[in-house]
Amino acid sequence: MAALAVKDEYQGLAAAVSLGITVLKRCKQNTWAELTAAMSEADPIVVKAFKVLDLDDDQLELIAAHQPELGLLRIAPAATHVICPACGTFILSSDTAPTRCLVTPGCSGKPAKIAAAVNAKKPVEEPESPEAEPASAPDSETQPEPAAKPAAKKPVIDLDDDFD
Ligand SMILES: [Zn+2]
Repeated sequence: MAALAVKDEYQGLAAAVSLGITVLKRCKQNTWAELTAAMSEADPIVVKAFKVLDLDDDQLELIAAHQPELGLLRIAPAATHVICPACGTFILSSDTAPTRCLVTPGCSGKPAKIAAAVNAKKPVEEPESPEAEPASAPDSETQPEPAAKPAAKKPVIDLDDDFD
């Protein structure tokens, strides 16, 4: 499982777009419309990709809440959201972000392109399994050793000795 992580400063739409770009790429789909079509057909590539993506509930909620905006995404030729942090509006860009807000007159925000979500560095929720494995491994190694049981048979030979 590879949980996805977005930049800390991404909230709402920005986080949804960040996840959306990665979801499209992993599913090898060019647009959200293609993705939903592939999903409804249970495209094996998409089904497999979603199994690996391991989106959490918050991420799925974000994506669901921003379907209309995600519908504007395109991988190639690129069309990604450039969001103004000051007024919250966005434009679509295929290239670099504009240096100033193009939507709201007089807005001082500097629009930023949204970066694709990346694999989370550590699966924080599963620290137990790596610890459990090394713990059980030595156990299975020590258990075969009670094959020293044949030693318990030796006293039987003592009976023979008494017989003499
Ligand atoms: Zn703005």
